[in-house]
Amino acid sequence: MLPLPNCKELMKELMKELTPRLAAPVPTTSNMLPTSMLMLSGSASGYVVGSAGLPAPSVARAGAVSMMADRPYLIAGNWKMNTVLSEAKELAKEVADAAAKSADNTGVAVCVPFPFLTAVGDILGDKVALGAQDCYYEDSGAYTAAVSTSMLKSVGTTYVLAGHSERRATFGDTDADINKKVLKILGEGMKCILCIGELKEERESGETFNVCDTQLTEGLKGVSAEMMKDIVIAYEPVWAIGTGLTATPEVAQETHAYIRSWFKENYDEKVADAVIIQYGGSVNDKNVDELMGCADIDGALVGGASLKGDSFSAIINFKQ
Ligand code: PEP
Repeated sequence: MLPLPNCKELMKELMKELTPRLAAPVPTTSNMLPTSMLMLSGSASGYVVGSAGLPAPSVARAGAVSMMADRPYLIAGNWKMNTVLSEAKELAKEVADAAAKSADNTGVAVCVPFPFLTAVGDILGDKVALGAQDCYYEDSGAYTAAVSTSMLKSVGTTYVLAGHSERRATFGDTDADINKKVLKILGEGMKCILCIGELKEERESGETFNVCDTQLTEGLKGVSAEMMKDIVIAYEPVWAIGTGLTATPEVAQETHAYIRSWFKENYDEKVADAVIIQYGGSVNDKNVDELMGCADIDGALVGGASLKGDSFSAIINFKQ
């Protein structure tokens, strides 16, 4: 008897054929952020055909560079330096309730301020992972105010952010510092969300892919293909963080596709297919469905909108 055709393999071959035609480079000549790249927060109507000239993707994860649409999603909240203990506990309860209704293929995490890790962790339940917003890379000792990975692990932390643009800009984290943190987080047996993304000027001068290349190359030094299972990438264009400006799905997808191709080139196809690449930058309950509909966007890192229980609940339960 002839073997049944393997549809997944056929699909892969087809996508290999289509990939070069679908992956268009980011524009390099513009000297301002064209309105076609931006979607005003709260206004899904800003959705336009992007520079790749592709039709708007539907909410189904179809028709793009990625060959494996069955990656799970990960939605993570970043509470930054917000909340006091009572508020943190209340929000944690709301997140836990919302996550209880979320789809099986959608993981949820919250990255909370250090002082509230234990209290929030006690409330989150099984469906929501506890995350921290940073760490220090030394084991222990005379590093006043620093928080080690063993401390984080000991209070039940699963995810730790590294390289958030606010740590890079305000606290001077270099790619070398970030790399040490990444290795330490993985060495401790936790998962790392490595944040990368270009500044407005870098986007305007066509440097987006180069910036991502550098931040990935430097941030992931010493991270093997095997270790990549504990890495999540958060692509966060800095001009979109906390500004109310969100990249259009097409612009975001274009960079996500580049990042996935980077993994194919620098690791292998298996790593590229499996790595979760979140989008971050003014994600809210109005724009989440379209963003998550893009084939290479596998979740979101959410700042402002993760501080409101109802918004974050809607984001976790985005339409798919
Ligand atoms: C962030 O903190 O990573 C972030 C994307 O913030 P916001 O959603 O507020 O833009």
